[in-house]
Amino acid sequence: KVVTRFAPSPTGYLHIGGARTALFNWLYARHTGGTMLLRIEDTDRERSTEAATAAILDGLTWLGLSWDGDAVSQFQRAPRHREVAEELVRAGKAYYAYETPAELEAMREAARAKGLPPRYNGQWRDRDPSEAPAGVKGAIRIKAPTEGVTIVNDRVQGEVRFPNKDLDDFIILRSDGVPTYMHAVVVDDHDMGITHIIRGDDHLTNAARQTVIYNAMGWDVPSMSHIPLIHGADGAKLSKRHGALGVEAYRAMGYLPEALLNYLARLGWSHGDDEVMSVKDMVAWFDIGDVNKGAARFDFAKLEALNGVHMRKMDDQALFDIFVATLPYLEGGPALAAKLDGGRKAQLLAAMPGLKERAKTLVELVDGAAFLFAERPLPLDEKAAGLLNADARAILRGAHGALSAIEGDWSAASAEASIRDFALAGGHKLGAVAQPLRAALTGRSTSPGVFDVLAVLGRQESLARIGDQID
Ligand code: GLU
Repeated sequence: KVVTRFAPSPTGYLHIGGARTALFNWLYARHTGGTMLLRIEDTDRERSTEAATAAILDGLTWLGLSWDGDAVSQFQRAPRHREVAEELVRAGKAYYAYETPAELEAMREAARAKGLPPRYNGQWRDRDPSEAPAGVKGAIRIKAPTEGVTIVNDRVQGEVRFPNKDLDDFIILRSDGVPTYMHAVVVDDHDMGITHIIRGDDHLTNAARQTVIYNAMGWDVPSMSHIPLIHGADGAKLSKRHGALGVEAYRAMGYLPEALLNYLARLGWSHGDDEVMSVKDMVAWFDIGDVNKGAARFDFAKLEALNGVHMRKMDDQALFDIFVATLPYLEGGPALAAKLDGGRKAQLLAAMPGLKERAKTLVELVDGAAFLFAERPLPLDEKAAGLLNADARAILRGAHGALSAIEGDWSAASAEASIRDFALAGGHKLGAVAQPLRAALTGRSTSPGVFDVLAVLGRQESLARIGDQID
């Protein structure tokens, strides 16, 4: 049975690269009928915060990336990490080393002078612990192999070979008793029964060192998949400017979770020519073996277009529900939410078919819906004001008369029939009537279809708004 995990360090929000790593772990677990566990890697006490953990859980929840069981705190498992480190010492696979900071600095300096990465010289590897200097607490270092190669069989990167001469005897337990990240990850993944590690390829060299620990303990190495990092549209490393923001920023920009997941899934993975996928499609189709090796590029324009497609695909009630639930986070959303009483909710739902055709994000939907609950007399934007010249106002006066004469049902159909008759009788093109009407009804030059606007606003409000422009 497949067990994956998402193992974020709670040092900041859940950024877009982390969200994609979580997504791939989640998809693979759901696809195979396995489980995805969540481990908060809070061993670094200086940099880990409660707020960051909360932001990560909130981001995952918003995206619908549910984990199985309770989140595991890595910090709380420190006694177990120590226990394994000591077990390795007893087995002769690791040893206490008693360097002073000055000695370590000298080793670093020597390596720097040769232009090499810092390396530990192994000076305590074969020394007798009885030689330990008094008063210096030892750190535990693993005996890394010195010859041959360590091979990482990666499902995305292929077979990656690391010459063992480049691996030094790295620390697994610091002299203050705090486990290193390298060691904690291995012990946790083993104890949690992780079968598949899926993470960013910035961890690939760690995989070699972690393999050394697995081998020393005689544990099976999980299947490894190191997925390429996300780059900006220009190919450079992802920065804030490119979209390296927390997922809550994407919520605030009005993206749907499903659209963001669809977009992220396709950064590095594809399924034939399918671009638009539901979460269900992704679960059915995802395989870690199909993830590409090349860096993926993040492109806001594509995300936005895809979001628009997902919005139009959703049924009106579902889109309405997610829209209302997201309002508190959207620009202009709280003001709209404050106006939404029962009647206005019904109006908003009725307007949804027209509104969603014109919006690529929920923020655009807030803007598109603004006319519905605007206070009279409506402010006109520049283009709308330009449409309402003297000729147009004369036509509007006639249209007002025609609409006032509608008997019985006020609907898009009855409004359309009345306006068409009026235009025909007066020798006006339909657009010459519809454009000023739209300007008067919405204060703008673009909006959903004008007959739908008339229907959604209702008889009284429509006639009043038109009346405001002709008196
Ligand atoms: N905590 C690490 C990170 O956030 C991930 C470690 C791992 O996946 O092995 O980059």
